[in-house]
Amino acid sequence: MKNKVSFDAKLEDNISDLVKKKGVTRRDFMKFCGIMATALGLEATCIPKIAEALVSGPRPPFIWLQFAECTGCTEAFLRSSSPFIDDLLLNKISLEYHETIMAPAGDAATLSLTDAVSTYAGKYIVIVEGAIPLADSGNFGKIGGRTMIDIAKEVCPQAKMMVSLGTCACYGGLPAAKGGLTGAECVHGALGGLNTIKMPGCPPNPVNFAALIVNYLMFSDFPKLDTLGRPIFAYGNTVHSQCPRLNTAWCLQNFGCRGPSTYHNCPTALYNDKTSWCVQADVPCKGCAQPGFWDAGSFFNYGGGYAG
Ligand code: SF4
Ligand code: SF4
Repeated sequence: MKNKVSFDAKLEDNISDLVKKKGVTRRDFMKFCGIMATALGLEATCIPKIAEALVSGPRPPFIWLQFAECTGCTEAFLRSSSPFIDDLLLNKISLEYHETIMAPAGDAATLSLTDAVSTYAGKYIVIVEGAIPLADSGNFGKIGGRTMIDIAKEVCPQAKMMVSLGTCACYGGLPAAKGGLTGAECVHGALGGLNTIKMPGCPPNPVNFAALIVNYLMFSDFPKLDTLGRPIFAYGNTVHSQCPRLNTAWCLQNFGCRGPSTYHNCPTALYNDKTSWCVQADVPCKGCAQPGFWDAGSFFNYGGGYAG
């Protein structure tokens, strides 16, 4: 086959085993590796390394917490099929706790979290989805009888790294919008400035999140971050600077498009299995990945805008 990437025999065997087990084609697998290389800004020569990371190596422990949010970040990730992104990655990490997809419920679920934290203290990556209510001693948000802030204080500081997934976790998002009573704050703020990687977006793009995990599987490390803690590969440029409508009659700037002040790779990563994105669907960017969204970016509270 023209341009077929070839691997050594052992890696080729491992890929064959994996695709057979998953019921997908080698072509799908290679497509996924290619998408990851593009998202991370890596050369095509890195594809064998990506493939190797996906079929071999240890399964690092992850804990996924969900606080004040709509579960849209989880849904966006689990519903993506680009190709088998969720299935492949959830098999490559050891997901110790995730309320939406785990089998245990009630006390058994609480116990899984406690066990995971004590077993993997200092070694697990914690993904946090959602803001944290702080008003009334945190009583607006409880899971299993404990406040979200209590759970976060126990789990997050013991992680090797925290990833704030989605705008609510990164900046407060909708739960922290004006008029709210819960005193919701972003995870970083609620935990006194605890170090975190931020992957904002409402929802965050599953391709970017997958690329963050693949980068970790490949290098046991995270990609370069900007001054706000966002991976540069996904948030290094404005939507505007990558937009195909830039300097055309079809530009939506006069319709309130926030692309010029929003840092996100939507025009290149696209959403829904690389089908489309806001401007392609004739909807101005509302800046869902910027600090200050919802209040500053929402068309329902128009006029604020972002500092840039
Ligand atoms: S549509 Fe929006 S993002 Fe695209 S060029 Fe116009 S202002 Fe920029
Ligand atoms: S184009 Fe703007 S509103 Fe749409 S997903 Fe990207 S950052 Fe969010």
